[in-house]
This record gives sequence, C-alpha cells and structure tokens, in this order.
Amino acid sequence: MIKFLDLKAQYDSIRPEIDAAIAGVLDSATFIGGAEVQAFEREFAAYQQAEHCIGVANATDGLEIAIEALGLPPGSEILVPANSFIASSEAVTRAGHRVRFFDAEPDTYLVSAAGIERALTPATRAVIVVHLYGQPAPMDEILALAARHGLRVVEDAAQAHGAEDQGRRVGALGDIGVFSFYPGKNLGAYGDAGAITTNDAALAKRARMIANHGRISKYDHEFEGRNSRLDTLQAAILRVKLRHLDHWVDRRNAVADRYFQVLAGLGDLVLPRHRTNVRHAYHLFVVRTARRETLQAFLKDRGVETGIHYPVALPDLAAYDYLRDGTDYAASALAGQLLSLPMGEHLNPGAADLVAAALREYFAQ
Ligand SMILES: *Cc1c(COP(=O)(O)O)cnc(C)c1O
Repeated sequence: MIKFLDLKAQYDSIRPEIDAAIAGVLDSATFIGGAEVQAFEREFAAYQQAEHCIGVANATDGLEIAIEALGLPPGSEILVPANSFIASSEAVTRAGHRVRFFDAEPDTYLVSAAGIERALTPATRAVIVVHLYGQPAPMDEILALAARHGLRVVEDAAQAHGAEDQGRRVGALGDIGVFSFYPGKNLGAYGDAGAITTNDAALAKRARMIANHGRISKYDHEFEGRNSRLDTLQAAILRVKLRHLDHWVDRRNAVADRYFQVLAGLGDLVLPRHRTNVRHAYHLFVVRTARRETLQAFLKDRGVETGIHYPVALPDLAAYDYLRDGTDYAASALAGQLLSLPMGEHLNPGAADLVAAALREYFAQ
C-alpha cells in the first residue's frame, strides 16, 4: 500500500518533540498568543525570508485578511487562476471584490505574466498568484508586469512552504503572501492554522489588526476587525515541525526526481514541468492523462492511493454560476485529466518505482 498522505508516520517520527511541545503549552496555561506564537512568527518569517509574519486561524482567513489589508476600492477586479482551491477566489469575494478567472500555463500549472496580461481589464487591481502544487510561479516577470499595470500581487503560498524562485523564498516576493498549515500541507498543524507574510510594515500592521479585532491594545479598537488568530498549541507544534521542514522538502524532491526518471514516455502520461532555478516544495506531483478515471481505479486496485487537484475548475463550480459569461477555460478540460500521485516525506524514492511499475502495467494493457 502506497499512501497518499501519512500523518501518523510523521507524528511517530517526531513524537517526543511534539509531546514535549504540547505539554509545555498545557503547563504554561497560555492558549491564545504568548511566547510560542511570537517565536513561531519570528522563526517562520526568517524561514520564508520575510520581514513580517502574522499567524492566523487558517489560510482562507489569511487570504481574506491580506486582500482586505491592501485597502483596494470596494468591488475591485482581482484575477484568480481557474485551477486552484476555492479559498483563492472565495477570499476575493468575501473581502468585497470581484473575481475574474484566468488560465495558468498548461505545463507548469502556474500563473505567468503572459497569462495575466491576456486576462487584464482596465478594472483589474490585483492578482492572486498561486504557487500551485508547491512550485513557485515566475515572480520576476509577474512583478514586472504588475508594476507596469499598477497591480497588487497576493501570493497564495498555501502549498509552497520552503519553495524558492531564483534563490528567494516565496511569500513576501509580492505585496503579501499567505501560507496554510492545514494538517495535510507540507507544514501542517494539528488543526487549522495559517500565516501571512510580507516585507511591508504598514501592510503587516494592518493585517495583524484585522486578524485581532482591529485592536491596538486590549480594549482599544481602531476599527472593526475579526477574530482570526493562530492558537498557542498550534504554534508550539508548528515550531517543532518547522525544524524538520527542509529535510521533508528534500525528501519530497527525491521522490519527484525519481518520478521524472521512471515515468518518462509512459502511454499518454504528461509529467509536470519543473521550472529551472527553483526549489519546488512538491506538495503534489500532478500528472495528466486522458484515461484518468480508469487509471485511478487501476492504481487503487494495486494499492496506490492518488488524489485529484482539482476535479472541477473554479469557474465551473456552482458557487460561480453568477460569473458565467461563456468564457472557455483550458482549466475546465484539464480538470478531467489531472491525477496527483503519492507524494510526501513518508515516501522513499523506491515508492516511485512501485508506482511506475503499476503505471507501466496499466499502459501495457
Ligand atoms: C489549502 C489551501 C488554501 C486554504 O488553506 P486553509 O488553511 O485550509 O484555509 C488556500 N489555497 C490553496 C492553494 C490551498 O491549497
């Protein structure tokens, strides 16, 4: 059995450290804020090479707060890639703006400057750049285009902890970035958690205030905010896991390297393009085939767990019926062909060989 995700194996590998961290929080009886949250924010900011980090309750809130912190005029148009998780677009609408979907590149599944340029309208004020599957989008060209058109850039780095574009960690390359610590993410909490990163002190201050009731001090509220904080227990757990993250990302890359070696030229299988001069976080290893449904069932029979990210392109969801205007998105057809192979720090490159053997067997039929 080759598992898609194995959080129990991960816990077993670091159990004493995790148990001690949890016990420390219980002993301190500090459950909101405190030293653990501050230390995690400091350590995660350093890890992502960002000047500021604000812990939040989850990345969906984080995206909404980050967008709100930009202070764009209400109803601004914001571009969102059509193949992503709904949080990327939900946050735009919830922050009071209008979503405009556009297609990412067909080989990397990433947003590009050319893609943004094709989708731009005079009303566009910002773009959500998703570092999808853990691979950093080409930030230099995106930031140059954004500067030319006066666009704000929000990085959805929910899948891209530790990823680097041309040697720079993602998250604070654009105006503001957001990370998810949902349990199954590369850096996962034991519940919901997230973080906002930025190099802009004013944005950081505003985001922190929005996430904490618009307050400056305990009962001094400058504006109405909300309650979206990273809790202390999760911060303590994340501090432990952060120490292992680089090793885990390296293990994911070792599995990906092996996939590239053993999966070349199999049937109609299309492998993802790994950009040059990037450190991919390999949250997911996503391949493409016209025979996705039967292949997924075949692999399941052979004990190989897979996933689909995502089965329906965002513009095709019922939630976006109200935006339907006859536009055709490449992402719509793609959604029927994507298949996420087992990937994670719980796997050895040998697992890729077993997956490849099952795939060879399937395509030989
Ligand atoms: C997981 C994810 C989110 C949302 O993260 P939560 O912490 O679960 O709210 C947002 N965007 C992308 C691309 C994700 O994968």
